[in-house]
Amino acid sequence: MPRDPRHDILFTPLQIGPKTAKNRFYQVPHCNGGGYRDPSAVVEMRRTKAEGGWGVIFTEQTEIHPTSEITPFIEQHLWDDRDLPALARMAEAMKSHGALAGIQLAYSGINGPNLYSREVPLAVTGGPILTFTSDPVQARTMDREDIRNLRRWFRNAFRRSQQAGFDLICLYGAHGFGILQHFLSRATNQRTDDYGGSLANRSRFLREIVEDARETTKGELAVSLRMSLHEAGPYGFSNAELRDFIAMHAELPDLWDLAHGTWENCSGTSRFTPEGGQEDLVRGIKDLTSKPVVGVGRFTSPDAMVRQIRAGVLDFIGAARPSIADPFLPLKVEQGRTEDIRECIGCNICVSGDMTGAISRCTQNTAFMEEWRKGWHPERARPKGESGSVLIVGAGPAGLEAALQAARRGYRVTLAEATGTLGGRVARERALPGLSAWGRVADYRTGQLAPLPNVEIYRDSRMTPEDLLAAGADHIALATGATWRRDAVARRHLHPIPTDPAMPLYTPDDLMAGRIPEGRTVALYDDDHFYMGSVLAERLVRSGNRVHFVTPAVKVAEWTDNTLEQATIMRRLLEIGVEVHLSKGPETIGATEMTLGCVWTGRQTALPVEAVVLVTSRQPDDQLYQATKALDWRAAGIRSLTLIGDAAAPGPIAWATYAGRSWAEGLDTPDRGDTLPFRREIAALAPGLSLLP
Ligand code: ADP
Ligand code: SF4
Repeated sequence: MPRDPRHDILFTPLQIGPKTAKNRFYQVPHCNGGGYRDPSAVVEMRRTKAEGGWGVIFTEQTEIHPTSEITPFIEQHLWDDRDLPALARMAEAMKSHGALAGIQLAYSGINGPNLYSREVPLAVTGGPILTFTSDPVQARTMDREDIRNLRRWFRNAFRRSQQAGFDLICLYGAHGFGILQHFLSRATNQRTDDYGGSLANRSRFLREIVEDARETTKGELAVSLRMSLHEAGPYGFSNAELRDFIAMHAELPDLWDLAHGTWENCSGTSRFTPEGGQEDLVRGIKDLTSKPVVGVGRFTSPDAMVRQIRAGVLDFIGAARPSIADPFLPLKVEQGRTEDIRECIGCNICVSGDMTGAISRCTQNTAFMEEWRKGWHPERARPKGESGSVLIVGAGPAGLEAALQAARRGYRVTLAEATGTLGGRVARERALPGLSAWGRVADYRTGQLAPLPNVEIYRDSRMTPEDLLAAGADHIALATGATWRRDAVARRHLHPIPTDPAMPLYTPDDLMAGRIPEGRTVALYDDDHFYMGSVLAERLVRSGNRVHFVTPAVKVAEWTDNTLEQATIMRRLLEIGVEVHLSKGPETIGATEMTLGCVWTGRQTALPVEAVVLVTSRQPDDQLYQATKALDWRAAGIRSLTLIGDAAAPGPIAWATYAGRSWAEGLDTPDRGDTLPFRREIAALAPGLSLLP
């Protein structure tokens, strides 16, 4: 299909200093949890973005010197020439389809605890390291010699970036993480020399290193500044000050890359931040400079992108998460296939991969970071094997992804769903406060499955073991989901607690099915610690309930630290009048009260309530699997019978889509025995093991 002429503007080339981007799709730097530890995995991930048509593609944060590193978070290193081969391979992959290759250079100053390098952290103004983890470490204030050294380290990084083959250098001064912001902000720059005080003085280091970058690379590389749009607080580098800075230095970089204050603000989840949520902070900045401006906003709609450019807000559409969820987004717009865009749902599971030191995964793009490890591709599937047909039971995220990937491989696919609606848990969860975008998990897959001739979908078809045996399928996947428990069993209680049947008890499944207490005093007990507890608290408040949020954790929804939502969730709960009880869990549930035990002292208190909602753990719905397994299913010609997704082990939606993909990829592949299910890289041993002489 030809592309929609309304989207033409997204494909107009634009100059960035000495380079020209082929279009307006700009993949801003983003972490991936792999970094220097998994170089080939990162290279192939970036290569799919090149193939998918992005005009500019960046690395994640690349740490330029061991006096500043952010272990336990795994990013890139450019510490000496030995880091060059991996980065050169990355630049080559990025450029493989005509994109410009960019490297984001970072020196973290007051944000780098140096837990790995053990070097003394250096900061614009010394003080305790400002990380998520309150490391008991302080940074030393840089003196003039340190600043000269830092300029030299940056020059080394510029030289190496050019050697590695990059086209663009991004100097990181956003999210409170990069030292450029620490110089600019009066919160982190309390110097009294000519690098502190006036805005002109606080800008000095930026001017110096941009000049250094130009000189070192002989003006052959483009230089961008990634700036925070607004740092909160009385001394923060505010949006007004940023505008003053840009007005004073309008032509300093080749491009202005604008990102909201903290990472939490910049990468807000869809629950709290709409698409294009930074527009107010960006509007008008383009009038201050002749250089191109890029901004982000979880843009997935080409119409919204066009509007940003036509309205003179942005020149380039910056994207991290939309490029993760769909590396082929630009190509799909170019080919007029916008309905094929796999839209980011704004869940920040990708971020959690970085936050936990794991490798990132994406709810929507199951191939993300598996391009090299497993040879998966976001758009293509490997050809099918020798068998012909598959039956998938259950059309939740696992079943839908399994069906789509098996169909793409060329199998005849039958998908049977007990209810009249496709989507399983997301069909229910999308109706909860703030979670409507999660429906995209189902919408994308049902949209892709609909036109496929080799797929048959049966709704209102609850399958029995006899149905499975009679289906005539070569392979069967059971993606039958899970049910929330009603007995408080999770982490704090591994066995059910004494409960009086007179107390009305609810689970998330009850609430999602519309059985919701109204105008009552309700205790919501959260031993799940992800989003469900706080989302349901909001839902209960909407129905006029007075809500006590009880959790054995030291903060509400503590795992959402990993999705950058925890502080926002806490604020939301307090704002809507939810009473929070931390470090407490129910010992017994009586007819009119819950007995709470303090997790530290064991001291018990009574909480009078009229209803209890238990957000604890889920029980796999694996009865169909177990019953079928007990029969002689092989005699019915079935080659494999597999339990997948929440029915195997309940987890986040991303775990279920991954399970669906994994099953489909594994069809008709030889048994791997005890070999690893993915490729990995192991550092080469250095010669010799002797201690110092
Ligand atoms: P997952 O997250 O693993 O995909 P879900 O709970 O979202 O799991 O989806 C499971 C789906 O399976 C639900 O839509 C449910 O209605 C369906 N299901 C459960 N048991 C059967 C069955 N016996 N036959 C057909 N569909 C079933
Ligand atoms: Fe978007 Fe979620 Fe994928 Fe991240 S994990 S890119 S937020 S869909």
